[in-house]
Amino acid sequence: MLIIDSEKCTACGICETSCAFGAISVVSDCAVVTESCTLCGACVDNCPVDALRIEIAEKRTQVDIIEYVGIMVFAEYRHGKVAPVSYELLGIGRKLADKRGVKLSVVLPGGTVAGYAGDLIAAGADTVFLAEHPVLEQFREDVYARVLEQVIREQKPEVVLAGATAIGRSVIPFVATAIDAGLTADCTHLEIREEDGMLLQTRPAFGGNIMATIECPHTRPQMATVRPKVMAPAEPDFSRKGVVISVELPPGLVQSKIEVLETVVNTEDQVNIQEMETLVAGGRGLDSPKGFALIRELASELGGAVAASRAAVDSGWIPYPHQVGQTGKTVSPKLYIACGISGAVQHAVGMQSAEIVVAINRDKSAPIFDIATYGVVGDLYEVVPQLIKRLQEIKK
Ligand code: FAD
Repeated sequence: MLIIDSEKCTACGICETSCAFGAISVVSDCAVVTESCTLCGACVDNCPVDALRIEIAEKRTQVDIIEYVGIMVFAEYRHGKVAPVSYELLGIGRKLADKRGVKLSVVLPGGTVAGYAGDLIAAGADTVFLAEHPVLEQFREDVYARVLEQVIREQKPEVVLAGATAIGRSVIPFVATAIDAGLTADCTHLEIREEDGMLLQTRPAFGGNIMATIECPHTRPQMATVRPKVMAPAEPDFSRKGVVISVELPPGLVQSKIEVLETVVNTEDQVNIQEMETLVAGGRGLDSPKGFALIRELASELGGAVAASRAAVDSGWIPYPHQVGQTGKTVSPKLYIACGISGAVQHAVGMQSAEIVVAINRDKSAPIFDIATYGVVGDLYEVVPQLIKRLQEIKK
């Protein structure tokens, strides 16, 4: 942090003019720093009386790392069911737990959720921590975070996994901050080192141009979020046995500062592209929003849904919920037909786990052909109508 020695400061204002971020100003005869400070050091270098210095906090090393054992999943319950991502996390969580030779637990907050414990055990959990309370019926970030924090403090898991969903993305940073743990968001691959339990958290970095593997050696638990559809759930095994534990919730813990006034279901876009087996995606190659009529027709012939590249979404041709990729959704359909999409790495990370990729592009060197199972080099406005016609003929 930036330290200002008020004894030495002469209020000359040089620091104020040297700060490119407007983060330091002279107030009542002394320099004052604000939250915008980036610790760039320009003010320190320019101060003529050495009244400023930057102190770097020492890296914290947790002494009780050894006490943290086991893999824990944060499960989400919403709209009457456990979110599919929770089962996907249990799938990868089971693999990590087996490799490390430890137990897999899951925390499920909700109003009345005991009926789902069996499904969670069948999906791989050894222990289910049920946090049931009427307040938890509605998602409230502060209470959900405190519940998870309490379970983590008591159970001391080595790893905590959560979905990179709207709920996960708001709760998990809250918890990581409260317990002073590291957190890697949007992991696309997870491994664990058997000998020391180091979680190897892989995710795209630098705009998706490289894949970075992140380790968190100094603190526990190691926390990571994973987007829906990135990991595969295990085949449910209803013969598995597990333990169900009710989490004690002291009254203070479930008191929320959040008042839910109304819950509105988004009716604008009912189709969740992450749950479809067939997707027909359009990109900038469509050249206009009208092109999506053709994409929609092909999708409807195949009983699928429409997806899009960011270029198409940014052009305003189709709403954001259809976007596939790094800043959109990750999908893993059986069939993904990419029409007029170049296959930029930021798009590819969102669809490369599709079983069959068909690419239609008039540029034979487009990167999409590197990940395509089948490629058609040609104008989509010629190829797609022919595909639709052929499908209609087959149906007849
Ligand atoms: P283009 O790259 O312009 O490709 C259009 C393709 O259409 C070309 O290959 C062309 O040959 C072909 N074509 C043109 N006309 C025809 C025709 N008539 N018939 C057949 N083929 C034709 N992108 C995403 O998609 N999703 C994301 O989530 C995402 N996140 C990003 C995050 C960051 C931080 C950054 C920096 C970028 C992100 N991008 C994302 C943008 C990405 O880098 C690309 O710019 C984008 O994917 C390009 O979209 P496109 O393939 O539709 O367009």
